Amino acid sequence: MISFWEKTSFTAYDYIIVGSGITGLSTAISLKEANPLAKIAILERGILPSGASTKNAGFACYGSAEEILSDIELVGEERALELVSLRKKGLDLLRHRLGDEAIGYEEWGGGELIDAHDPITLEQIAGLNKKLFDIFGKEVFTPNISQGVANGFDLTNYSYYVQNNIEGQIDSGKMMYHLIQLAMAKGVMIYTGSEVKEIQTNADGVSIEVWSEALNSTYTFTSRKATVCTNAFIKKLYPQFDVKPGRGQVLITEPIADLKFKGIFHFDQGYYYFRNVGNRILFGGGRNIDFEGETTDAFELNDKIQQRLEHYLQKVIIPNTLYKIEQRWAGIMAFGQEKWPILHQVNEHIVVAGRLNGMGIAIGSEIGRQAAEMLNDLG
Ligand SMILES: Cc1cc2nc3c(=O)[nH]c(=O)nc-3n(C[C@H](O)[C@H](O)[C@H](O)COP(=O)(O)OP(=O)(O)OC[C@H]3O[C@@H](n4cnc5c(N)ncnc54)[C@H](O)[C@@H]3O)c2cc1C
Repeated sequence: MISFWEKTSFTAYDYIIVGSGITGLSTAISLKEANPLAKIAILERGILPSGASTKNAGFACYGSAEEILSDIELVGEERALELVSLRKKGLDLLRHRLGDEAIGYEEWGGGELIDAHDPITLEQIAGLNKKLFDIFGKEVFTPNISQGVANGFDLTNYSYYVQNNIEGQIDSGKMMYHLIQLAMAKGVMIYTGSEVKEIQTNADGVSIEVWSEALNSTYTFTSRKATVCTNAFIKKLYPQFDVKPGRGQVLITEPIADLKFKGIFHFDQGYYYFRNVGNRILFGGGRNIDFEGETTDAFELNDKIQQRLEHYLQKVIIPNTLYKIEQRWAGIMAFGQEKWPILHQVNEHIVVAGRLNGMGIAIGSEIGRQAAEMLNDLG
């Protein structure tokens, strides 16, 4: 049951954003930057953001050599390099907006273990460096096996190691905490525990049905315009979009004495990724060993994948080193036929922005900016 006061002060907005991940928060902040007086609310189903933004690996990355070469093969050079530029734009905006300290940004570079069975050639790497020079103004990838050995990796099954000279890492918890604080400081209301069940369009704007588990009842919010930033969960509101959930599994170790590497690393075409978090190791991936099982939005662990992660941890990443796992978790990404985010105007009041693949930390701020621009263009 809603009161007169609640109805008159809390439920009507200029803009409502569904989903408080990096994309939803960035959309709200960009809208406030363009319209400081606009009344804006974000509706989030979880107590915390409950998708991918607080559960990821925190790679501030533009793509590994294998990933970019595979993108070029799939979609052509122009589109693949456009995606690299989008990642750079998004990261530049995130760093500028919050500052490196607030997001725990460290630019230690990283590397890639190239599989002996499916090697990319040194000529391909040299060609890729030339293509990326216009974007980064320096050599991005340097084949450097001795660096891989110095990092302590067992490279027996790998043909070589490619050092990445530009990539960084962030603390995803700090980043999201400060993004929420910035949105709130600009006057954005964030309602958690608010699952949007239905959005209807009318002559004046939209009417949004929100389910409150705590009160076992529904609230109706209204706004002139709305953006749906629910990423892997878009289909629950708009079944017409090509979005499939993809679960990502992660583990983190307890601190390891004398950890030999700092930075972000990939192998098996990016299906496995690891980094240091201080002197812990965060290691994730392995969706490719059970694509079907991992096409889910259930936040559960898959034993087979967790065992495979531990296998690689012991055999390749820190061979002959004692370690303990401190925590394991899963997050949900969004994929589709095309490796490009959805930014789509549903009608004159609603924009959908999502499907950020495994690169939302990189592109989320820019996609939010573009979603806000699209909403503003709607008048
Ligand atoms: C394990 C893992 C590792 C990753 N590593 C990296 C990485 O290193 N670098 C990188 O760039 N990217 C990485 N990603 C991908 C990145 O985290 C995502 O692309 C990005 O967080 C997507 O942001 P988003 O805001 O679009 O979606 P989300 O963060 O998923 O936010 C969507 C929000 O919508 C809410 N929601 C859903 N339905 C409703 C509803 N009906 N009503 C109200 N709220 C709703 C959800 O609770 C959620 O909070 C990783 C992802 C995972 C899972």
